[in-house]
Amino acid sequence: MEARHAILFEPVRIGPKTLPNRFYQVPHATGFGAIKPRTQAAFRGMKAEGGWGGVCVEYAPVSTDSEETPAVAAEIWDDLDVANLALTADAIHAHGSLAGIELFHGGAFSVNGASRGTRIAPSARGVELIWASGAREMSLDDIARVQADFVTAARRARDAGYDIVYVYGAHGYLLTQFLSSVTNHRTDGYGGSLANRARFHLETVEAVREAVGDDCAIATRMCIDGRDSIPGVGIDEMLEVVGMLDPIVDLFDVNVGAWPEDSGTSRYYEEGHQRPWVMRVREATDKAIVGVGRYTNPDLMASIIRTGAVDLIGAARPAIADPFLPRKIADGRYGDIRECTGSNICILKEETFAHVGCVQNPTAGEEYRRGWHPEDVPPIDRPDRSALVVGAGPAGMECALTLARRGLAAVHLVEAEAEIGGHLRWTRQLPTLGDWGRIIDWRAIQLAQHPAIEVITGRRLAAEDIEDYGADIVVLATGSHWAADGSQPATDELIAGAERALTPERIMAGERPEMGAPIAVYDAEGYYVGPGVAELLALEGYDVHLVTPHPVISPISDATLEGDFLRRHLHDVGVRMVTGVTIGAVSPGGVAGETSLGEAWELPGASVVLVTHRQSDDALARQLRARGIDVHVVGDALLPAMVSEAVFDGHRCAREIDGPHPDFPVAYSRERPGRAD
Ligand code: ADP
Repeated sequence: MEARHAILFEPVRIGPKTLPNRFYQVPHATGFGAIKPRTQAAFRGMKAEGGWGGVCVEYAPVSTDSEETPAVAAEIWDDLDVANLALTADAIHAHGSLAGIELFHGGAFSVNGASRGTRIAPSARGVELIWASGAREMSLDDIARVQADFVTAARRARDAGYDIVYVYGAHGYLLTQFLSSVTNHRTDGYGGSLANRARFHLETVEAVREAVGDDCAIATRMCIDGRDSIPGVGIDEMLEVVGMLDPIVDLFDVNVGAWPEDSGTSRYYEEGHQRPWVMRVREATDKAIVGVGRYTNPDLMASIIRTGAVDLIGAARPAIADPFLPRKIADGRYGDIRECTGSNICILKEETFAHVGCVQNPTAGEEYRRGWHPEDVPPIDRPDRSALVVGAGPAGMECALTLARRGLAAVHLVEAEAEIGGHLRWTRQLPTLGDWGRIIDWRAIQLAQHPAIEVITGRRLAAEDIEDYGADIVVLATGSHWAADGSQPATDELIAGAERALTPERIMAGERPEMGAPIAVYDAEGYYVGPGVAELLALEGYDVHLVTPHPVISPISDATLEGDFLRRHLHDVGVRMVTGVTIGAVSPGGVAGETSLGEAWELPGASVVLVTHRQSDDALARQLRARGIDVHVVGDALLPAMVSEAVFDGHRCAREIDGPHPDFPVAYSRERPGRAD
């Protein structure tokens, strides 16, 4: 370990417990919760194995009136939950790390989709978009009951083996609802003055501490103002609350602003953007403080710890992208760190009630169900075979690398273009998307280091070339292209005159419409390419209209927490946004379509860039199969999808290359309700 990073590996005492180092995986959702206990245990245990000294599971609702269906949380309501959660604590302890659990009540934001519980809040209020209902005011009995639920849950957490027990007071949930003068209008001892609004938080922490404080460290998570403010509780007031909590809390886990800011994507927030606000908490307490910042740079981490304002480097996303980040820093293997791209695909997965996933780490979430380890791959049978991977996009790079890591003697990765990277070559050049290039950069370093891999660029292979190559294993990762034939996802009718339109690739290759006339960037996909191309052209001075058939611009960006920033940003750079319009024709007179209400829409004189959908480049596969050559097709060449899926597919195919059917995933272990082993 380099001396300048030694500070990161110092132990830190929190109450009755000692963290072995300063790397701390903060609580974050996964979609595993109480439903997939073995998946949870293997996922969190892997982080402990990779060197994270503290590892937490996600939010754990304490009461049935804070129930999250259809989302999945780590409910802690009965002995079965205790037995299941104990699997995770044990997996974390097996590597000498401390296990944390985040006890939680959502208050007005509880979904109660399964429990049918009555939503409660400090004061009665409307709640946006939860089934035409709101939240009712908590009675004093409700307050006592919820506090008792926290205590019961804390005892269960201790019995399950958890070392750190949180009282979760951030992200606008019940405790913040009490703290905020905007949502707390009570006239009893729990409302009015700051001391009264903080009473629920203080009493709850005190009760939890009394119950388990000798056995467990007591943590609380709270939000302070950042670029976004927390409505009704300013930073100075929040620091006063920290001061009140100081005697009874061992660890302050500090968030900044609302969740979209705190988990800000790399498009709008740089590494460590929370620092100016997090560092103020030291004014109010000497207790341990953990703050996040999408940190992957060990020098920055060490410099932050040296300020004394923060004691632990918190991480959710960087720990998903690289569970072995601490170990790699300890070993000085900096080039091996899979740096988080800040694209929030992990959050998108959770927000859409899927299974966690990552663009950088295809093994994230697959530790139990597929038995995958991020650093180890099983050795391949007959390593003297050769492999040819055609196409060096994310899928091909990952596939070639994994085949070589499995021990194949010779892996050739052949790319038609002068540079490797596939569609990310140009994606990373779109405004704000530079950090997505980390997906290529990490793989480029690894490919260059591996002695069995030869990367050949500037060579487009035809079917006969591949046949002549004579490789034992052939994988086609030839990617996809944006449709130029006028087809689009929402309707089977082709856009008339589509041949007059440009596509994203042609824009990125430098083609431009005539300056002066308006441009319609037509985004039927609803993710980042349409907005990216629109911004690029607007910055060059074009009059850009971003037109989408969807009810909002880029609905997928809402699941990555970027939607509001993206739309404000596009507005600020002068992009005009048109929603609910399906384009039907492009002509010399302009672009014409129809609104979702059936009215005619047109943009006279406009040219158009079609960002409708992608089509697989699978001609080679068909030609080779027709010649009787066995090939495997991965990534966008099989089905265009998010980059996380291309990386996953390339990785999976390489792991399963000798399996019964490498083109189709082998069955994985499923978890079903019942007692854990
Ligand atoms: P994915 O996301 O599935 O990795 P990409 O579109 O990002 O797909 O990358 C596919 C890559 O394959 C591109 O860089 C493209 O230039 C390359 N490619 C496509 N066809 C050939 C070919 N016949 N020979 C060599 N490279 C090819």
